[in-house]
This record gives sequence, structure tokens and C-alpha cells, in this order.
Amino acid sequence: MDLAAAPPALLVRRHLHVAGAWVDPTEGDAIPVENPATGDIVGQIPAGTPADVARAVAAARAAFPGWVATAPAERAAHLDRLHTALAARADEIARTVAWELGTPLKLAARVQTGLPLTVLRSMVELAARPAAEETVGNSLIVREPVGVVGAITPWNYPLHQVVAKVAPALAAGCTVVLKPSELTPLTAYLLFDAVTEAGLPPGVVNLVPGTGPVVGEALAADPDVDLVSFTGSTATGRRIAHLAADRIARVALELGGKSANLILADADLATAVKVGVGNAFLNSGQTCTAWTRMLVHRDRYDEALDLLATAAGGYRLGDPFDQATRLGPLVSAAQAERVRGHVGRALADGARLVAGGPDVPLPPRGHFVAPTVLADVHPDSALAQEEVFGPVLAVIPFADTDEAVAIANNSRYGLAGAVWSADEEAALAVARRLRTGQVDVNGGGFNPLAPFGGYKQSGLGRELGAYGVDEFREIKAIQR
Ligand code: NAD
Repeated sequence: MDLAAAPPALLVRRHLHVAGAWVDPTEGDAIPVENPATGDIVGQIPAGTPADVARAVAAARAAFPGWVATAPAERAAHLDRLHTALAARADEIARTVAWELGTPLKLAARVQTGLPLTVLRSMVELAARPAAEETVGNSLIVREPVGVVGAITPWNYPLHQVVAKVAPALAAGCTVVLKPSELTPLTAYLLFDAVTEAGLPPGVVNLVPGTGPVVGEALAADPDVDLVSFTGSTATGRRIAHLAADRIARVALELGGKSANLILADADLATAVKVGVGNAFLNSGQTCTAWTRMLVHRDRYDEALDLLATAAGGYRLGDPFDQATRLGPLVSAAQAERVRGHVGRALADGARLVAGGPDVPLPPRGHFVAPTVLADVHPDSALAQEEVFGPVLAVIPFADTDEAVAIANNSRYGLAGAVWSADEEAALAVARRLRTGQVDVNGGGFNPLAPFGGYKQSGLGRELGAYGVDEFREIKAIQR
């Protein structure tokens, strides 16, 4: 470990952020925060309680009428100040994500810090636009903020997932109570430092840290929360939908994925494999949109496996603060164990090891798993069907485009996907046939203004851009 990069002391946070102030929690319990690259404890946060949630929701409710009445341009000015305050903390954010999640610093600066700043910037512009109105016959159709939003976020992109909810909710005129993941809560505290500096009106956005079963459930079940916006696993999403259904509250769910990367026979194979591996291993494979199934035309299959072995071998595991590190650890010992279990089962199911696997030497400390490529994976096997959330790529051959589309759609998930072909029209035609919320053709870049979300068990609703703001609005028809 590079000691110069280690935190100067424990990053201890003792408060909640409610009604515009740092306040004491109702109880004194604390949750430790671990550095997954070493197993050392690097921080501590308070364990919120249902009483803390009730207090924060009441603050958000009290702030709602004033925030709704605030002119769009003024709301945009608040978000602009928040952007400035957050951007000033960019280095600290990247280092904090490296400490609490293990993302290599370079990647943490680009994706974990740069992306949420870009999304927040886009929301400044969208907040300035009044909600669209239209006339349908004798009706005036207006859009209004839905009310108080409960936001529950995961650990894998700790700031991005928070900003992708908080910023559009505020832009739409909603007020928010946030519960970040207890595994990576320190980044959310930096956001609230920025909220304080930006001087957002009290109660417009509130922070209650804590565990899912205690704080998350209390927030999802609170009768005064109008919409629960959740990102995380499909199992937790199902639980949250049940809790919200009891009072017919709205939910927006961004859940898991098992996305397919279709490489057609005429594709630029070297690029498709290189970009495909980079996507599958991004953030140590802890990315909901990761293309974790690589589908390759039989004519190019052996060639692709050779390229994959070389590409996977180039991913150096290690200290997130070392500039040469390309792959950090997994977030926790439990996550690393789960991922190793998936690899073991896949080998038992008959998959062929192309790279990585259980015998590769690993750093002595931390929750590392070797980047692993498994070929001849059966499309119905557990590895092809279950979300692994680690650096594990399943390779599956196909004979023709119809078979490739059938394999890709043979999933209970429908979040993302990719198609590669020298014939862009043919690739687009395949993209239209995929039952997923996102598809990238020939490496098309991530667009922070495009709607983001899933089909099937990958979720309900959309985030980002104008669609993401509309997620936080109700629709009213006024007849005259
Ligand atoms: P998780 O479901 O375990 O936890 C997510 C959040 O929910 C955390 O804040 C957690 O404390 C909370 N939570 C846990 N149990 C709860 C309960 N019973 N009631 C209320 N809240 C509860 O997910 P995770 O392990 O943090 O994240 C990994 C998962 O997130 C993966 O499945 C991944 O695909 C998914 N994910 C999806 C997207 C997307 O946009 N579709 C993005 C990132 C991650």
C-alpha cells in the first residue's frame, strides 16, 4: 500500500444531515467502513434508526411547498452552486472512493468523480427549463413534482448513483431523503459537505446513513414518501416494491443485469474484444451494465479466445493508489467469496478456463479476484443467467444472428447490451431486437443525457437526462 495515499486518520462521521444542519442521530451505534484493498477499517458512520428516517422525511415534507414554489431558474442556480462546491472536492472524492470501494485512483477520478459531475451539470440545465405543458382537446396537461422522494443507493458507483437520483429530483421540484450504501457512505458525506457550502434551502435534501433492513426499509415504508427511487439488487428492489405497494406509492427501480455483447462474423474483432473486456471488467466487474456474456460467431470463436486470453492477462491487480493498477479488489470479503463460488460452479458445469481462475496468485491482503474468462458457457447455465458482479466474463458461441439474438434475450434481465458488425445497418437491426434498455453499437459512447434503465427484472423507470427528471413528476389534466 502506498502509505502517502492512506487516509491521515479514520474518516469518522458522526451526524445525519436533516433540515439543513448536521444533527446527532437518535442512537449511538456506529458502522465501520472498510478499505477492501487491505481489510483495514478506514472510517465510521452512524447507524441511523427509523426515528431518524421519520425526522428526515418530516423535514423534506416541510421543505416541499417552498421548493415547489421556487422558480426553475432559481432551482437551477442552487444546483449550479452545488456543482461548483462538489467540483472543488473532486480529488477528495476520487481518493475516498479508492479508500472505501477500492476503485483504482485513475478510474475513480474519471468515472466515479467525472461522471457524476457531468450528470449534475446536465441537471443544472434541465432544472432551468419549466416542465413542458401541452393542450389535448379541451385539456391542459401539466407536469408537477411528485413530492418527497426516498432515495436508496448501492456501493458500486457511490456518488454517481446518488447524483443520478438527487439532482433530477431536485430539478423537478421534489425534496429528498437519501440513504446511501453502508459499504461506501463516505462519498455521500462529501456531497452533503457540498450541499452545506452551496446553501441549499433547509430540508430540501437530507441524509440518513445506515443499513438496508433498518433505514432502507423505514424509508421505503414511510407513508409520507411519495416515490421510492432505488438502485441495487433485484432481490432488494422486489422487497422495496412490496413495501411501497402497501400504500400504492410510486417506485423507480434500477436493478441488476446480465448483458450480452454480440460480436457478428464481420466485426472488427480486435476492437470488439478489447472494448468488450474493458466493459466487462470495469470497476472490477461491479457494474450493473457490464457486458458479462460475450457472444461470438463460431467462425471467429477461436480467434476471439486467443485475443481474450491476451487482453485479460494485461489487467494488473493491486493497490488502487498505484498508477499501474488496472483492477482493484471487490467491495467486500462476502462479494469476493460469492464471485469465486460462481467461477467454481461454472467450471463444474463444464465451462473452459481461458484466463484467470482459482489458481492465479493474488495480492496477500484485500478482497481480490483474478480477472477470469470462461468459454463454452452454456446459455442456460448459472454463469450465463446469474449476475456475478465481479471480473468474470462468460463466452458463448453462436451460429447465426437469430441464434445470437435468442441467446442474448434468454435472460430475466434486460439492462444493456452491445452489437459489433462492419455493417452498421445490420448492427442497428440487431440492436432493435434486443430486449434491453440500452444497446451500444460498435462501441458507441455512454451518453449522460440518454434515458437509462432496464426491461424485465432490470427495473422500472428511467434515470438521466429529461426522461430522468420526468420520473419525478406527476401528470395532471385540467379540463376547461
Ligand atoms: P443491495 O440491493 O444489496 O443494496 C442497495 C441499497 O439497498 C443499499 O443502500 C442497501 O443498504 C439497501 N438495502 C438493502 N436491503 C434493503 C431492504 N431490505 N430495504 C431497503 N433497502 C435495503 O445492492 P448492492 O449490493 O449495494 O449493489 C449491487 C447491485 O446493484 C447489483 O445487483 C447491481 O446490478 C445493482 N445495480 C444496478 C444499477 C442500475 O442502474 N440498474 C446500478 C448499480 C447497481
